Amino acid sequence: TELDTASFIKLDEAWGAHNYHPLPVVIAEAEGAWVTDVEGNRYLDFLSGYSALNFGHRHPALIAAAREQLDRLTLTSRAFHNDQFGAFCQELAELTGTEMVLTMNTGAEAVESAIKVARKWAYEVKGVAFDSAEIIVAAGNFHGRTTTIVSFSDDPAAHDNYGPFTPGFITVPYGDAQAIRDAIGPNTAAVLMESIQGESGVIVPPEGFFAEVRKMCTDNNVLLVADEIQSGLARTGKLFALDHDNVRADLYTLGKALGGGIIPVSAVVGRADVLGVLKPGQHGSTFGGYPVACAVGRAVVALLQTGEFQERSEELGKHLHSRLDDLIGHGISAVRGRGLWAGVDIDPAAKTGREVSMALRDRGVLCKETHERTLRIAPPLVITREEIDHAIDSLVEALEA
Ligand code: PLP
Repeated sequence: TELDTASFIKLDEAWGAHNYHPLPVVIAEAEGAWVTDVEGNRYLDFLSGYSALNFGHRHPALIAAAREQLDRLTLTSRAFHNDQFGAFCQELAELTGTEMVLTMNTGAEAVESAIKVARKWAYEVKGVAFDSAEIIVAAGNFHGRTTTIVSFSDDPAAHDNYGPFTPGFITVPYGDAQAIRDAIGPNTAAVLMESIQGESGVIVPPEGFFAEVRKMCTDNNVLLVADEIQSGLARTGKLFALDHDNVRADLYTLGKALGGGIIPVSAVVGRADVLGVLKPGQHGSTFGGYPVACAVGRAVVALLQTGEFQERSEELGKHLHSRLDDLIGHGISAVRGRGLWAGVDIDPAAKTGREVSMALRDRGVLCKETHERTLRIAPPLVITREEIDHAIDSLVEALEA
């Protein structure tokens, strides 16, 4: 017999590690901006797998690329060449205006790789003394879950009881250029920051912040590493969130949407003289840049080359933000973000983020709280203006419910 929602959830809880607290909805199918649960209820996706589904669920071009590749070749390992890897690297580098691509699988691995590369570059190129390289990071950051990455997380849930931790990170307030200036020293290898802080609640830094950071990095021979895993690939209306500031990073970390929501694909892209510190045997991953990843990644790059998704995000984002701004003072205390991406602070006198997420689910819209009081909104970029209106109307009801 078919399992119902409650039975599926019971199964998860009985057998899966309890490291998430999902909304009680069990999704069985999806297409575009819509998902269907095991009982046949349809919901508008207002989260996009934390921006992994920028092109919507099962975009036909991405599914076709994956299928075609599955029928030809899945894995070679990097012990041999394959006919997809080089083309993917070239196309991604050309799209991003960078010189070299290091392929990995998950976002955390891309960040780990960028940290390793920045340190190696500091010792071998910049001339920092052995084992003393420093990386400047931001308070409130989220870069993934590995031991080194959580070493510089200030979120107790992400950090506590995972020590001993990796040293070599200096934390400064996000958006504070002077604090970075004060923190830079002869041992500084890199400044590593999200271009917009996602998990922290879609925090947009002050105007001109990254331009100043760029200048400081250049003046002091420090690498600017932009984590665009959540903010990049059209989410904010441009390819990179940093593009809004006309700033170029030395290295970018990419993930999530790079795999089209189909498979995990991540990469570090950037300067050839920096990524070039990696020599054979010094870094790697069995699946990093495997043929299926490259085929899907190439199809993602092709979608981004059209500019269509950047444009949709920019245009529809204006509409989304104008509708959200109207709700300030009506159950919402603040709205931040760019393009089709918003952090919405629920009025503390009203409800918790979880309560609003639940009330939205009851109305057929799926999004998720981050921290107690913030809703994170990130619809697939294929969403329509009418669907946005439907979701915001539902939000108004949810806030009142
Ligand atoms: N960096 C940023 C900015 C992220 O938002 C995330 C995930 O939310 C990561 C890194 C980690 O990516 P993954 O979960 O694929 O390891």
